[in-house]
Amino acid sequence: MNIFITGANRGLGLALVQKGIERGDFIFAGVRSAEEAEKGILGDLNKTGQLRIVQVDVADEASVVKAKNEIEKSAGFLDVIINNAGILLESDKSIEELDLNECMKSFDVNTLGPIRVIKHLLPLLEKGSQQSIINISSDAGSISNAYVGNYPYCLSKVALNLLSEKLDLYLKEKEIQVLSIHPGWVRTDMGGEKAAISPETSSEGIYRLIDRSVEVNGEYVFVDYKGQPMKI
Ligand code: NDP
Repeated sequence: MNIFITGANRGLGLALVQKGIERGDFIFAGVRSAEEAEKGILGDLNKTGQLRIVQVDVADEASVVKAKNEIEKSAGFLDVIINNAGILLESDKSIEELDLNECMKSFDVNTLGPIRVIKHLLPLLEKGSQQSIINISSDAGSISNAYVGNYPYCLSKVALNLLSEKLDLYLKEKEIQVLSIHPGWVRTDMGGEKAAISPETSSEGIYRLIDRSVEVNGEYVFVDYKGQPMKI
């Protein structure tokens, strides 16, 4: 499979790259700094011949268009898009103290980022097979979980979940699978050291969903990494 993953240089994104290569997939690893990525694990993985590092900042539409052109030239199609890049700003502020710039920044990356990617890369996905759009969401984006997390992050993930639902309706006829996945509480820079599961465990679950080897039978497309329906 040809798979494009954003935020691929660390955390869950990097685990998804590593697992994909292990499985024999070809990965387009979207990173903000290709130069830095070359110096790290992605630089080593480059030698497998199953990886291409692609510079992309999902908050910058021109950079997404450039990434699309690069993938189109190199492969011509994608089977899977994983919108993994995300930010959690340290803003546990009350509504009275809320910094609206942080809200806008969170929306720009966590919600508009996946929109920019899908807007420009959908034509490449339409040429693939057994296609999936995977939007990495969070349990913080569940309305019934409103006591968890901060305003900017939670609101941006709720909106991402609705985006996934709308895309699912739009793309059903084309048999493109759309999922909004809560990856679990994962040991990454964002999740922290005390988190419950490793990035490897989460990524394995996500690939089972991509492969359709786990049945998803919730009412909505918002599920966890095991395919269990998440509360809206
Ligand atoms: P990390 O903070 O460890 O990594 C975030 C990644 O996103 C980095 O690669 C970062 O790149 C990238 N990124 C941030 N902003 C942009 C941008 N504008 N354009 C492109 N890439 C960007 O997070 P995790 O790996 O933990 O999180 C991955 C996803 O999982 C996120 O969407 C997060 O919301 C979600 N999630 C994580 C949970 C957890 O427990 N860890 C729980 C629930 C959801 P750079 O290195 O350049 O900053």
